[in-house]
Amino acid sequence: MATHRTKMLIIGSGPAGYSAAIYGARAMLEPIMVQGLQPGGQLTITTDVENYPGFADVIQGPWLMEQMRAQAEHVGTQMIWDTIVEIDLKSGPPFRAKGDSGDEYIASTVVIATGASAKWLGVPGEQELGGKGVSACATCDGFFYRGKKVAVIGGGNTAVEEALYLTNHSDDVTLIHRRDELRAEKILQERLFASDKITPLWNKAVERFVPGENGALDHLVLKDTQTGEESTLEVDGAFVAIGHAPATELFQGQLPLEDGGYLKVEPGTPKTEIPGVFACGDVMDHTYRQAVTAAGTGCMAALDAERFLSGIEIDLHGHVEEAEAAE
Ligand code: NDP
Repeated sequence: MATHRTKMLIIGSGPAGYSAAIYGARAMLEPIMVQGLQPGGQLTITTDVENYPGFADVIQGPWLMEQMRAQAEHVGTQMIWDTIVEIDLKSGPPFRAKGDSGDEYIASTVVIATGASAKWLGVPGEQELGGKGVSACATCDGFFYRGKKVAVIGGGNTAVEEALYLTNHSDDVTLIHRRDELRAEKILQERLFASDKITPLWNKAVERFVPGENGALDHLVLKDTQTGEESTLEVDGAFVAIGHAPATELFQGQLPLEDGGYLKVEPGTPKTEIPGVFACGDVMDHTYRQAVTAAGTGCMAALDAERFLSGIEIDLHGHVEEAEAAE
C-alpha cells in the first residue's frame, strides 16, 4: 500500500478528466489520475463519434479515449488503476482519499470527473434478467442478438443511436417510447425513420420483463400510457436507454447536489462550494452532456485549480500557509 501526494488529484477518466489532466500537467501540477472502474468512461462503450470537433472522418469512441489518455500521459500525468472508495473533502486542503487498492491519496486540489452511468427502469425482471436478455449497452451486447428480435426503450439520442446500431445485427428492432415524440436530435430521428429495420412503438411503458422456460428474456409486458391497455412484445433482447445518473455517491454529505443528483457548482464555473475542489463533465452538467462540453469543463477545472494554488502553499503533510503577496 502506497501513499500518493499530488497537487491535483483527478477522479475519473472520461473526456473531462483527461482534459483536466492535460492542462494540469502542462501547468506543472503533476496530476495523478485515478481511473475508476471504467477507464475512458462512457465513450468506451459507444462506436461512431461524428460530433467531436477536429475529425472530418468518423472516429470510434474507444479510440478517442485512448488518444486522450496517451496525450495526458505524454505531458506528465500519472495514471493509477484504482477506484476511490473514501474521500474527506471537509478537512482539506490537503484532501485525503482512499483507493480500493488500499492506497492513500493526499492532494492540494481535487478534480471530480466521475461522470454518469446508465439509468434503469426499476421494473420487475429487469435486474434478474441482466445479461440474460436485458442490457443497457447495445454496443457492448448487441452482437449477441445477431439475427434476433430486439427492443430499445427510450426516446433520446442514446435510444435512437442504440436502435440504429442494432440494425447492424438485427432486421427486427422495436423502439419503445413512453410518448409519441422523440427527444433525440432531428438528424438521428431522420435516420431512424428512414430505416426499414426499426419499428417505433409509441406511448408504451415497459411494465415488466418476463423470462421464458430457459430463464432468458422471453417477452415484455407493456402498458399504453394513454389508454392503460396492456400488451406483450416477444423479444430476445431489450436495451434500456433512458438516460444516465451522475456518479456522486462518494461525495454525498460533503458537497451539495442538485435535482437529479448532479454536483452543484458556482454557475458558469467548475468550482464547488469547497475551495480547491472542482467538478467537471457529466457529474455536474445536466444540460449539455457532450464529450466536447465535458472536455471544456475539464480544461476549466484545471485552470481554476492552477489559479487556486497560485495564492497558497499547501504542505502535503498537513499544513496550509497563505503565500505572501500572492498577486
Ligand atoms: P435523455 O435524458 O436525453 O433521454 C432519455 C429518454 O428516456 C427520454 O426520451 C425519456 O423520455 C426516456 N425516459 C426517461 N426515463 C424513463 C422511464 N422511466 N421510462 C421510460 N422512458 C424514460 O438521455 P440520453 O441518454 O438519450 O442522452 C443524454 C445526453 O447525452 C443528451 O444530452 C444527449 O444529447 C447526449 N447524447 C449525445 C449523443 C450524440 O450527440 N451523438 C449520443 C448519446 C447521448 P421523455 O422523452 O418522455 O422524457
